[in-house]
Amino acid sequence: MQNSLISLRDVPHFDDTADVLVIGYGIAGVCAALEARRAGGDVLVVERASAGGGASALSSGLFYLGGGTAVQKACGFDDSPDDMYRFMIASMGSENADLVRRYCDENVSHFDWLESQGVPFERTCYEGKAVFLLGTEGLLSTGNEKLWPYREIARPAPRGHQATGEGESPGNVAMAALTTRCEDEGVRISCDSQVTALIADDTGKICGVRLRREGKTLHYEAGTGVVIASGGFAMNPDMVRENIPVLPDTAEPLGSPWNDGCGIRLGLSAGAATNAMEGVIATASIYPPGQLIKGIIVNKFGKRFVAEDSYHGRTAAFISEQPEQRAYLIVDEEIFAYPEIESARHQLVDGYENIEEMEAGLDIPAGALSRTLRQYNVAARKGEDPLFYKHPDWLKPLENGPYAAFDISFNRSFYLFMTLGGLEVDSDARVLDKKGRPIPGLCAAGACTAHIPKSGKSYASGMSLGPGSYFGRVAGMTLMSQ
Ligand SMILES: Cc1cc2nc3c(=O)[nH]c(=O)nc-3n(C[C@H](O)[C@H](O)[C@H](O)COP(=O)(O)OP(=O)(O)OC[C@H]3O[C@@H](n4cnc5c(N)ncnc54)[C@H](O)[C@@H]3O)c2cc1C
Repeated sequence: MQNSLISLRDVPHFDDTADVLVIGYGIAGVCAALEARRAGGDVLVVERASAGGGASALSSGLFYLGGGTAVQKACGFDDSPDDMYRFMIASMGSENADLVRRYCDENVSHFDWLESQGVPFERTCYEGKAVFLLGTEGLLSTGNEKLWPYREIARPAPRGHQATGEGESPGNVAMAALTTRCEDEGVRISCDSQVTALIADDTGKICGVRLRREGKTLHYEAGTGVVIASGGFAMNPDMVRENIPVLPDTAEPLGSPWNDGCGIRLGLSAGAATNAMEGVIATASIYPPGQLIKGIIVNKFGKRFVAEDSYHGRTAAFISEQPEQRAYLIVDEEIFAYPEIESARHQLVDGYENIEEMEAGLDIPAGALSRTLRQYNVAARKGEDPLFYKHPDWLKPLENGPYAAFDISFNRSFYLFMTLGGLEVDSDARVLDKKGRPIPGLCAAGACTAHIPKSGKSYASGMSLGPGSYFGRVAGMTLMSQ
């Protein structure tokens, strides 16, 4: 598989010409294409699969949006762009502050835009703790907004906006609406077409792509520029091994088969910088049911290391850093339940009459877990957690034996993962080189770019589709304004 940069001088002739060429027909590509088309461009989307959709169509359809969207308002939540910005910067870091500012300031109008394209969002809120919704509620808390210290920095609000659709993949409802718009408005689509190289002119401007289609090598010209929107690299085992050594062999990638990092390698061939390539969101959530959050999570030394009410991706990231990546969820009789996410396969190790027996059963040093539990219970009785500030809603002393332990170790349970690293872009979705300068004629959006959250510790569900759709639009507009 070649992903190289070729010179315009080496192109024998162009087989097709457009103003804007978009590589990939997932959420970022479809939004880029729509905006470029509406700005008057002749737009050609080149898609490797036999149909569009990508990982976006397989997804749960959660968009991380806020600042006071129509759904938030209808459900009685008073969010603001400033609260959203403060939360995102506090939890995700200030490295891309200008990108985050733009995203938060324009979120309400981006929500309206998505809806006006036919992406449906019900005006209802799911109040419980869930990873994805099987119902049709339009709003859900999907991140760490209520976690300490973030709840003291910014007013928490639910920001997971789920496109309305039954089952596990409402993402296909959103993609169907957006691809229909594209096709109705004259965006041209070339499926079964795998881009293998970017083409640069003598000034270094990206002016086309080389691709393979039906066994032939073709060259397509892009008069204005190219948008890379080809997804992440979870499906490329070599890239994953090289960049994300923390992942055990048992971890399974989430995505479409073509999320193999090809867009990142295309960008690299043109001199692009990458960022957060080690970033990963892994998940094997302990909830639902929410009552399990009232348990404690300890490592092989019987010590707590994370607030149990964290977003599941944050919990997973902390588990991955524990000695031997081992972790247990400890519950008492009052809150006992089996974790409902079947794919996680968290094994019940055993039930124990008392904590001393559990220490022996789990091979935790004698006295260590008893000490942890004693301290936790003393504080929990007062509604406090001086170690990790777990929210009082989830605090209760664990004193009703028998007790049970679930093995939630990173390398024993079944963690699914997506990559967060990729091409470095600015707030206009322009791909940057290693000196921070935009590469002429080249934009990128979606999972082939470095996500705003660069680690599972700060990810929130919807942080791919939300920014992917928004910066996809920005990419289309940027190229057409040049
Ligand atoms: C089961 C599941 C649930 C998820 N749920 C959510 C969620 O609820 N919210 C959220 O924010 N994120 C979710 N995600 C993650 C999210 O779906 C992806 O991060 C996001 O869809 C990426 O969008 P994209 O446009 O960048 O890439 P994709 O949607 O993957 O689109 C990229 C397209 O590029 C094509 N392509 C690749 N290489 C080439 C090439 N060389 N030439 C031409 N075409 C190429 C691919 O075939 C693909 O169609 C979920 C993912 C999965 C798998």
